Amino acid sequence: METITQIDRSRLKELLDSETKRFADEHKKSYELYQRAKQHFISGVPMNWMVKWAGTFPLFVEEASGAHFTDVDGRRYLDLCLGDTGAMTGHSPAEAVAAIAEQAKRGLTYMLPTEDHIAVSEELARRFKLPYWQMALTATDANRFSIRLARQLTGRSKILVHNYCYHGTVDETFCTLENGAEKPRHGSLGPPVDPALTTKVVEFNDIDALEIALATREIACVLAEPVMTNIGIILPDPGYHKALRELTEKYGTLLIIDETHTICTGPGGYTAAHGLEPDILTIGKPIASGVPAAVYGFSEKIADMVAAITSTEDCDTVGIGGTLAGNALSVAAIKATLEKVLTEDAYAHAIPLAEKFARGVEQVIEKHRLPWIVKQLGCRAEYWFRREPPRNGGEAAAAVDAELDRYMHLAALNRGILLTPFHNMALFSRAHSEADVDEHTRVFHESVRALCGDA
Ligand code: PMP
Repeated sequence: METITQIDRSRLKELLDSETKRFADEHKKSYELYQRAKQHFISGVPMNWMVKWAGTFPLFVEEASGAHFTDVDGRRYLDLCLGDTGAMTGHSPAEAVAAIAEQAKRGLTYMLPTEDHIAVSEELARRFKLPYWQMALTATDANRFSIRLARQLTGRSKILVHNYCYHGTVDETFCTLENGAEKPRHGSLGPPVDPALTTKVVEFNDIDALEIALATREIACVLAEPVMTNIGIILPDPGYHKALRELTEKYGTLLIIDETHTICTGPGGYTAAHGLEPDILTIGKPIASGVPAAVYGFSEKIADMVAAITSTEDCDTVGIGGTLAGNALSVAAIKATLEKVLTEDAYAHAIPLAEKFARGVEQVIEKHRLPWIVKQLGCRAEYWFRREPPRNGGEAAAAVDAELDRYMHLAALNRGILLTPFHNMALFSRAHSEADVDEHTRVFHESVRALCGDA
């Protein structure tokens, strides 16, 4: 019978204590800044998720370039978090920086379009096979505006999401299943109404539950990542997307695909790679190399319907957009990013690195007979502390081991590697190298050896 290595929890605790002490000893300047920041920022950070790192206080960054950043204590890190996909281009890619600098000299926002807007719409249409586009500043907003349009177009009020999805701070999406019923997601603040009134939740890959929900004909839209990435990578079962498209069409529900993270699959995201046909597609984060920008695209049919309901007279109250949406700076950055940074070549470089990462981690897992697995999607990869890949968000959430997560993250950080804080995820860009992957494998192995008592 195969022997499985069990994690010794008291050893894990000791390791975590010593890594925490090392972190504090080696980041004195960040600690000082954190004390100062606490005087005027709640929790000492501008956004409270900035403390969700494995250390006891956040690192303050001095600068970043390509695959690395340096903190205020002068330590250099290999960045496998990349601003949780916001910097999937690598930090400050030269082509985008040049376009941003050039545009900055010519005005930042005009409330008027530029020729760059047209070039961007042409490139988006080519990549995602959707003919019409609008702009926002964040993926959250692109999702909010899409939901609002879907409600108006269908005359229905509810949306459907997958359990443990994440689509930004969109009120309707902060809803999870508890014993089969919709409940406010743990930690969600100030929901305007009980989310059970606005939202139907089903597990990813559950076609039967999906059909039952859609058959009520109450659902305006399904908002879905094509592969779940925010509770770990959860791949669709074969046939799930086909069923999702057929059932949404059958019951008059619009399908919104959120490609904000799954753009890691390739230049046209998972949608282009797998021939999906959403009514609306949303994407933000890396499309402007980290400058705030997002876009959402429509099929011809939906675009016609949107045009019919958005009268110029009422442009202030249709509630779509924002003064700075589609500003000249963001659009110059999107154009340079799409044309010169997130290119076919960039993916051809980054995806094999994620594959190499997965192989390296798998070999260590095998050697130490750990009941762990690795999942990969394009230039993103991640390891899980369970034997089987989860098929849905509920299973994935139940498998979280916060203490083990914290140790793996902190051990990596103390050895110069930053992982995405919310799970054990690594992202690769065209700026990363094979040597970077080898460095991660070495550090991962060292952390695992200590955990298994083979140090
Ligand atoms: N959609 C997805 C799939 C995301 O992962 C996120 C953020 N993690 C968002 C939307 C929201 O992005 P933002 O916070 O930049 O608005």
